[in-house]
Amino acid sequence: MTFADLGLSDELLRAVEDSGYNEPTPIQRATIPSVLMGKDLIGIAQTGTGKTASFVLPMIDILHHGRSRARMPRSLILEPTRELAQQVSENFEKYGKYHKLSMALLIGGVQMGDQVKALEKGVDVLIATPGRLMDLFGRGKIMLNGCELLVIDEADRMLDMGFIPDIEEICSKLPASRQTLLFSATMPPPIQKLSQKFLNDPKRVEVARPATANVNIEQRLVEVRGDRKKDALRDILRHEEFRNAIVFSNRKTTVRELASSLKRSGFAAGQIQGDMDQADRIAEFDRFKSGEINVLVASDVAARGLDVKGVSHVVNFDVPWQPDDYVHRIGRTGRAGMKGIAITFATREDGEAVERIEKLIGHKIPRVGKAEPAAEAQPPEAEAAERPRRGRGKATPKAAAEPRDRQRREPRPEPQDEARAERSPVVEDLKSEWNGPMPSFLTQSAG
Ligand code: AMP
Repeated sequence: MTFADLGLSDELLRAVEDSGYNEPTPIQRATIPSVLMGKDLIGIAQTGTGKTASFVLPMIDILHHGRSRARMPRSLILEPTRELAQQVSENFEKYGKYHKLSMALLIGGVQMGDQVKALEKGVDVLIATPGRLMDLFGRGKIMLNGCELLVIDEADRMLDMGFIPDIEEICSKLPASRQTLLFSATMPPPIQKLSQKFLNDPKRVEVARPATANVNIEQRLVEVRGDRKKDALRDILRHEEFRNAIVFSNRKTTVRELASSLKRSGFAAGQIQGDMDQADRIAEFDRFKSGEINVLVASDVAARGLDVKGVSHVVNFDVPWQPDDYVHRIGRTGRAGMKGIAITFATREDGEAVERIEKLIGHKIPRVGKAEPAAEAQPPEAEAAERPRRGRGKATPKAAAEPRDRQRREPRPEPQDEARAERSPVVEDLKSEWNGPMPSFLTQSAG
């Protein structure tokens, strides 16, 4: 089946072709014709399946006819996080480039002035997080009674974040005759109830979880002691052939510490976590997307739905508490047909969490050895003075420049130090523990 078979306009087909897509993904095949026919829909799918295009594409054709009025958006897309809202708006720009649709983004953490001005002019598409939308609605800056199409995206994450009462209120303000599309990775009872209450005879579409079905992601589990995780991470980043990596941690404080520590070690690293303000998060994400930095340390909520083409590695610095988060995290790699590697660090205490993940994904994550005991553990203070070494990955301009700069400033190490540096204790431990074929990051010496 091709995109042309789905009933989309020629302008959209051109935009899809410009995006380089050859054929629709399963969720797009199942969703687009029904949405074009005006049906309500429940899509059980998560990021990585092509679900955003499955609602953005038909919406563009639906909204092509008709005109917007001041303060009365014609359609509304609700997203749980600012980053997701931002990405959906980028999708609208990409696919809507041959249409003349107006769009506004209502997200917290950025100045309200421009958002209100855009609304005053009238918009075809409003993309919003529930909090900011309710805020503006409460101030009378927005009317929802002209909104004929509603998308509730990532409904289960909305539930986790406590947005369901807001969504119920928003639904009750929209015309009853509207078309409603709800997307969710899972369907817990409160989301089922929500869909029964606010959707009208919806078509139900379910696609396989990309993480379980996605053969493009090579998953590995490394057993490591908690105090050796940083060393193990640096080893991977130095020895593995990586283009760029997202490193996930469960805590915001770890994200902060880890990003600083990697920077001190000469990596072009950045961070994205919930305590940062929106402008900083977007700037950091843009630096990662452009390749200015090639390691992004992230927390789950801040990184939810991050869509960067060609992320080569995901490292779970901590095993996520929620098994679903594992699926979301590793889904940042292996996207759109490209290969990806997902490495998870697990300590002895993580046994139960790993079991829950394996139950969810339906298979065991291959173990690639143990990174303990700490033979030559370095005290944390040593990190600051540590000499960065060249990795095999394609360094970004910054990553390449920094180590050279430092080498000029710092005295050259003694030859025996250099030899010891290449014989990383973590890699040596892994080699001695591992019986099967050597994973590449153990066999390759630093470049
Ligand atoms: P999503 O599930 O919406 O987060 O999309 C995941 C990724 O797949 C994004 O990078 C999209 O640009 C890409 N994508 C969407 N549709 C297709 C398609 N039909 N073929 C290839 N890639 C696609």
